[in-house]
Amino acid sequence: MNKQLRRAVIAGNWKMNCNTRETAALLEDLKPLVANAGCQVVVGVPFTDLSTALEHTAGSNIHVGAQNCHWAQSGAFTGEISAGMLTELGVEYVILGHSERRQYFGETDATVNQRLRAALDGGLKVILCVGELLQQREQGITGEIVAQQVKVALQGVSAQEMQKIIIAYEPVWAIGTGRTATADQANEVCGLIRSVVASLYDAHLAQGLTIQYGGSMNAKNCRELLSKEHVDGGLIGGASLKAADFATIVQAATEG
Ligand code: PEP
Repeated sequence: MNKQLRRAVIAGNWKMNCNTRETAALLEDLKPLVANAGCQVVVGVPFTDLSTALEHTAGSNIHVGAQNCHWAQSGAFTGEISAGMLTELGVEYVILGHSERRQYFGETDATVNQRLRAALDGGLKVILCVGELLQQREQGITGEIVAQQVKVALQGVSAQEMQKIIIAYEPVWAIGTGRTATADQANEVCGLIRSVVASLYDAHLAQGLTIQYGGSMNAKNCRELLSKEHVDGGLIGGASLKAADFATIVQAATEG
């Protein structure tokens, strides 16, 4: 299968930004700019903005995602949100395993796997984030680290369920730093992830899997990154908060 046959997905990770008023305004600005997108468009918004985002994207081609979910369906987990709570609202996607969750909130490969399992059981589609630290890249162990993250996160996930998974390769040293991986570095690791998935499932499934790059992707560097064979879209932080920049990235993905 060649790249053109895979579903390109551009997803925004708004992180802890935008109150409900700002959410409504940003989505109203964005809607007309991406109305003719030839790729899928997702916005990952804070929990408190989900209802507003769903309201302001209704009837549009923008899909709404959350930025985390817990592994239990309910219970004594103060401050957490379950997958079922998200699907009940009408949320379609969840971002899991983001490096900021791993770095600041003790997320591990095992808890990412638990959350991912719960997300699938709850009816969500998942954007699974993986990526190496700068030190790991410098040690030459990027491939090992990323392969391990993918393998553990996907434990217990069937081939059929893989249709609901997108993997985002996000080198930690490139997130929010303005330091982007070169297009060749991004392509190399996205290709490696594809081969890991092929070894876990089969080559056909891996060829159909959407693999995004994330890490300081912006309106200027997106075309080169998105032109690469194994880069099927982007997970966008900072640039997703500016409608025009995000729309430029969507347009670049549309053109391939
Ligand atoms: C992210 O948060 O997933 C991300 C890629 O952020 P940024 O684009 O700001 O580097």
